[in-house]
Amino acid sequence: MREFTYEATSARIVFGPGCAERVLAEEIERLGVQRLLIVATSRNASLIATPAKALPVVATFDGVRPHVPVETVNLAVALATRTGADAVLSVGGGSTTGTAKAIALRTSLPIVAVPTTYAGSEVTPVWGTTEGARKITGRSSVVVPKTVLYDPALTMTLPVAMTAASAMNAMAHCVEAVYAPGANPITDLIAAEGVRVLADALPTVMADLSDAVGRAGLLYGAYLAGSAFAGAGSGLHHKICHVLGGAFGLPHAETHTVLLPHVAAFNEPAVPALRTRVAPALGAGDVAGGLTRLAARIGAPTSLAQIGLAEADLDAAVRLVLEKDLSDNPRHVGEAEARLILTGALRGSPPALAATLSTRGESV
Ligand code: NAD
Repeated sequence: MREFTYEATSARIVFGPGCAERVLAEEIERLGVQRLLIVATSRNASLIATPAKALPVVATFDGVRPHVPVETVNLAVALATRTGADAVLSVGGGSTTGTAKAIALRTSLPIVAVPTTYAGSEVTPVWGTTEGARKITGRSSVVVPKTVLYDPALTMTLPVAMTAASAMNAMAHCVEAVYAPGANPITDLIAAEGVRVLADALPTVMADLSDAVGRAGLLYGAYLAGSAFAGAGSGLHHKICHVLGGAFGLPHAETHTVLLPHVAAFNEPAVPALRTRVAPALGAGDVAGGLTRLAARIGAPTSLAQIGLAEADLDAAVRLVLEKDLSDNPRHVGEAEARLILTGALRGSPPALAATLSTRGESV
């Protein structure tokens, strides 16, 4: 058994259809909260309108913006301070949870999170804000929610494209966790189970968005994905996604879906757990093939060109990827490797090609 360090996050997890309606007030009371700030878009706030009547709400911040701009955080922190809030309740996707985390980072207020997408941020110590075009991220235990209520009933309204993309984002967290810098036997276990649960539930939900069992599976998979990501961290795939999102404005979750099979194919020869744990969880012989078939089954985009990257952007994308520190990837990533991965993803060609490149130390 190899040596490892694993730090479990301390959030209390409450899972079940209808749990927000049944136990939200009880969970808030359990933490001794007396002055609650809700962070939610007006649509997401309406998802908890009934249980919210029993909560000690002093204000609602509905100015959530994607990528958590610092100006938004300033407004939210000012509201929390002005109203004397002693806790934050976030109800929404990763952008909403991210806003609550940014408030907690500045104020140390405890968070209760009710996720309504499959982003998984609610169980990670990772926070992120943007200042102008610059994204700043960090890790702090202060931003980990004290309690997370996973209520699949609140995810029923997620539209089809967002459902597919968000679930594949969770899938990316699981797959990448197997070779991320902090990967260890515990996160391997969590990640493989996450892959299994997500791959099982996703086609069911895509065939019927109101399938309650499938929706519960996706949300449970999202929890596992967030937990694996929290413990193992992220690596090559997420770094490329950040470049594509930041420099070319590509949508976060769809970028994950397209890129993941290409990065998995590239890393598979150097990461036995991809073949021994993740591929079987996908019901496939290899991870890239399993992911590609899953994406096709659910009608997800299969090329970066489909979601806004142009051939003319390729050189700049390769250059920006190489500016990242990629030294912790299990295979060496030089210009040829970055170009091969990005070209395959851009054009939607079969990802298996990436696996044919040499491993670390060999010439290409
Ligand atoms: P999002 O939070 O931006 O939400 C996308 C859209 O879906 C929004 O318009 C939102 O209002 C809507 N929505 C949310 N729940 C809904 C529901 N139940 N029904 C209908 N519409 C709903 O998107 P996301 O994918 O959840 O989160 C992405 C963000 O989260 C990114 O900024 C990413 O960096 C961040 N993230 C952070 C971590 C972390 O650990 N810090 C992990 C994963 C993602």
